[in-house]
Amino acid sequence: MLKPVQRIPQYRLLFEEYLKCLSESSPDYVDTQTALAVVANVAAHANATMKQGNNFMKLLALQDRLSSSSSGDHDSSSSRGPRCELVRPGRYLLKEGELLKLCRREMQPRYFILLSDVLLYTSFVTSGPGGALRLNYELTLEGMKVETPKAEEFKNEFSVISTSRSFTLQASTAEERDEWIVALREAIEDNASRRSTFLQAKTFVYRQPSTSTLGKQAPVWIPDYRVTMCQQCTAEFTLTFRRHHCRACGKVVCDHCSANRAPLQYKKNQTARVCDTCFEILQKDFEHRYEGSAVQEDQQGDKIRRVSSLKAQFKKGIRESSRNRIKKRVPERLMEVCASDASSQMCGYLRMMVRRSWHRGWFVLKDRVLYEYRAPQDVCALQSLPVLGYIVEAMQKVREEADGVDACLTFQLTHTNQPPLVFHADTPHLAKKWIQAMKEAVVLT
Ligand SMILES: [Zn+2]
Ligand SMILES: [Zn+2]
Repeated sequence: MLKPVQRIPQYRLLFEEYLKCLSESSPDYVDTQTALAVVANVAAHANATMKQGNNFMKLLALQDRLSSSSSGDHDSSSSRGPRCELVRPGRYLLKEGELLKLCRREMQPRYFILLSDVLLYTSFVTSGPGGALRLNYELTLEGMKVETPKAEEFKNEFSVISTSRSFTLQASTAEERDEWIVALREAIEDNASRRSTFLQAKTFVYRQPSTSTLGKQAPVWIPDYRVTMCQQCTAEFTLTFRRHHCRACGKVVCDHCSANRAPLQYKKNQTARVCDTCFEILQKDFEHRYEGSAVQEDQQGDKIRRVSSLKAQFKKGIRESSRNRIKKRVPERLMEVCASDASSQMCGYLRMMVRRSWHRGWFVLKDRVLYEYRAPQDVCALQSLPVLGYIVEAMQKVREEADGVDACLTFQLTHTNQPPLVFHADTPHLAKKWIQAMKEAVVLT
């Protein structure tokens, strides 16, 4: 097979060379042109076939890795269960590789396989390259979305939002992340356009903003360590005052703020813990959908029973007065901006000099005010500082009390009659960006 395939491009080159030597009046000229077109066509076809063959071999190799994890008491043909039938007509392998998945407490390595119609989420059964994989989820590309965080600190991360599962992944480099994002977005788009040739265009309504998709798709869970307080009531979490996740919006909330239960469509209407905000939205949405004329008109007892059983699944929780709940009075202005505010000029980790030592915090610069937070997803700030009128300076030399931190990482804010505020960024690039953003914020333009 390989030899003729290698020969065809050579024929093509020969014809091309030959054609160059002929004058247009030569009797061979037209024939040579025709022959060249035929050979070129064959070469293109052979290339495509080789590519397909390659793709097929890669899919088979992956199929093997997935199948070898199934129980060993079957023979090889039956152990390839229907769950991981990778090879299908028209299906292509687009990208595969290891990524870290942000779990509640830590990151775990997972192996992702992007095919032209689905994204396979697998985990390692045996480690090492080529090791066996177990299929966790097969996620259709239909309705899938890819999102990127704004803060530079998380530049290796991206989130995959799909109807059944949503999660945040971390690549080992920014380049690797970007490759995945491009591959995923192209695959999603291609998949949609391919499907739209089979379906009516009207079935492709774009996803509406969050309230209308609430409960219909799995939310991305905000990792525990990115919040220090309930994202609803700002009560601080402690060892005994624990974090919970709202199954509708993915936010981290306290027990008190998530005492309600509601059926969620993406969980096939199973009842799950939701926060107070989501409970209200979901209940209103439910009433809007079913309590109107639609049900009365519907004479089928089945449907009415289904609706009333769904209605009974909305349960207002009983709130015990939580002894562990430490709720501080938070000044109004510290609640105005949250740590993950998308419209901020700049946000990220900085170290600030406090009593001659560095304290790390999450800082957000918005509307000429610098806010400090304990964690990147906190909903209220520890403190705020209007920076208008301050002078921003990049540090010229290493300060003696700064533990020898490189001068190019540090900058300070000064104001008459006040001690300077000294900051330290993680990289020279980030320091430059902060200085630039601060300089814009301290003057009225
Ligand atoms: Zn709360
Ligand atoms: Zn919620």
